[in-house]
Amino acid sequence: MTNPILSPWDTPFEIAPFDAISDADFAPALDAALAAHDAEIKAIAEDSRPADFANTVEALEAAGEALDKVLSVFFTVAGADSNPERQELQRAFSPKLAAHFSAISSNKALFARVAEVWEKRDALDLTEEQARVLMLTHRGFVRSGAALTGAADQRMQEIMGRLAELGTAFTQNLLADESGWFMPLTEADLEGLPGFVVNAARAAGEEKGQEGPVVTLSRSLITPFLQFSPRRDLREQAFKAWAARGANGGETDNREIAAEILKLREERAKLLGYESFADYKLETQMAGTPEKVRELLMAVWGPAKRQAEADAEVLTEMMREDGINDDLAPWDWRYYAEKRRKAEHDLDEAEVKPYLQLDRMIEASFACANRLFGLEFKPLDVPLYHPDCRAWEVTRGGKHVAVFIGDYFARGSKRSGAWCSAMRSQAKFPKEQGPVVINVCNFAKGDPALLSYDDARTLFHEFGHALHQMLSDVTYESISGTSVARDFVELPSQLYEHWLEVPEVLAEFATHAETGAAMPKEMLDKVLGAANFDMGFQTVEYVASALVDLAFHEGAAPADVLAMQAEVLEGLGMPAAITMRHASPHFAHVFSGDGYSSGYYSYMWSEVMDADAFEAFEEAGNAFDAETAKALEAHILSTGGSVEAADLYKRFRGRLPGVEALLKGRGLAA
Ligand SMILES: [Zn+2]
Repeated sequence: MTNPILSPWDTPFEIAPFDAISDADFAPALDAALAAHDAEIKAIAEDSRPADFANTVEALEAAGEALDKVLSVFFTVAGADSNPERQELQRAFSPKLAAHFSAISSNKALFARVAEVWEKRDALDLTEEQARVLMLTHRGFVRSGAALTGAADQRMQEIMGRLAELGTAFTQNLLADESGWFMPLTEADLEGLPGFVVNAARAAGEEKGQEGPVVTLSRSLITPFLQFSPRRDLREQAFKAWAARGANGGETDNREIAAEILKLREERAKLLGYESFADYKLETQMAGTPEKVRELLMAVWGPAKRQAEADAEVLTEMMREDGINDDLAPWDWRYYAEKRRKAEHDLDEAEVKPYLQLDRMIEASFACANRLFGLEFKPLDVPLYHPDCRAWEVTRGGKHVAVFIGDYFARGSKRSGAWCSAMRSQAKFPKEQGPVVINVCNFAKGDPALLSYDDARTLFHEFGHALHQMLSDVTYESISGTSVARDFVELPSQLYEHWLEVPEVLAEFATHAETGAAMPKEMLDKVLGAANFDMGFQTVEYVASALVDLAFHEGAAPADVLAMQAEVLEGLGMPAAITMRHASPHFAHVFSGDGYSSGYYSYMWSEVMDADAFEAFEEAGNAFDAETAKALEAHILSTGGSVEAADLYKRFRGRLPGVEALLKGRGLAA
């Protein structure tokens, strides 16, 4: 019997034939695709001809077509529409895939051929893009340790194995501390809490097998509890437990684990020839060096701290009015900030929502893409993996550009959050292929479906990622679309959020579900004002975490992570009533894996760029300025990873971004 995943896809635009695929097809398709890829890799590694760009680098680009198909279909449904069978498959696939890719990156014969091409690169007459792909391919092998031999090679493998164990232990300890603690509440303790917090506390009590309501350390319960509970003693207890996650002593304590992780990362970086782990990590990023990261963070730190200190005075005054003469503490901040928010920006979400209909907001995101880039969207009737999914053909001047799929509604089978992925990336080699791009969100269903302002921003954000994929115009798939540095990838998405704030966009598309009236100006102003509320606090807790992350990975690894954390915070003059967003013993971004280690800064790096990039349109006097839109597409949205990110930005803007636009956007400018 033929496997529908591996057979040619005889569908419109070769979209995966979801109606023909069943869960039983995945495992045999994956095994066949892995075997095919292994054979391709073997043939490239054992080729007896002298290595050249075509028989080595291009051959690697072309390899794995079947594997791409299997993984794109499987991970689409595993994330957006899972079931017990798919979860089981995912558990079985993940070690198989890890072993497969690690065997490729440590294949010495293959690396020898890549290195041979790299050595003679100047004589090869490569295009700019080919030279870039060669550099990235070679660098990827070197960074994973392929060039190491003998004892160094052996040691690297030990380090990687141990780091994987430590990362898992860190995560599990954190989960154990989070689920192990709860604080029972009496009926009287519930006073002053809004209905949704009371309900969540009761549900949590039931889940923990308690008679009455409880507070747990789940972010979705503890945060509103700290925000709304008038009981200072209970807030203090809950906050202290929250802040102590991973540092409670005993078996689940993460402090030693974090210290060992940092030591092994330092050793790993040195084995590969880098001064520090931060140097190693930042080499592939737009920021490039630890100094550049620190420069950005410190430029934001001063204004953020000033704002937070001014806010602390206001909040302390409010606390005095409650008859409390103590210093403002971390367990007071959210409570008094919430009171202040209510007084200054009272915004009733229930009044805003009828103006933000999902279908109108989708139209708005399409209309902006039409005005900026001339894209047109036509509904496409194809079988997808769930009846809630919708598809459009995207064209420009009558020519096919991409297929766009939207899967907007929350359901039990979907993981939380929102994301964009390419089921097929744009490429011209080995053959021309148009992108198939999907946005997945978790909006509540309704008739009509209505969004919060945050939801609408998420919709524009994910659509910005989709544009980065759809407008991609490169030759090689490995650098297509969003295959760019981590600190650059959020630029197109965060930038696109700005068009939601353009008054004429909301005036046209934010229309009331029943009356059809446009959102009143006062409501719009309130929505935008509330978005920037308490930015001093938010910026301080974030930047402090990012600076501690950076300090951990520069220079010698600390023997005591909390001591080093305290030293960094003291040097910064951290405001007493604010703590790090993630203290080291529960800083999962940094210790659960190495994805965001010395990389926590990257959210802010992208924000600096999106604020500065949108200013290019403001300077042109028009949010839809044709010349600026053309430059944005030419230098950022179509180029993928074909050029160094900093160069792309300079081509678009004529210079690198400054922090001024970000400070203004966050309301922190002097
Ligand atoms: Zn994003």
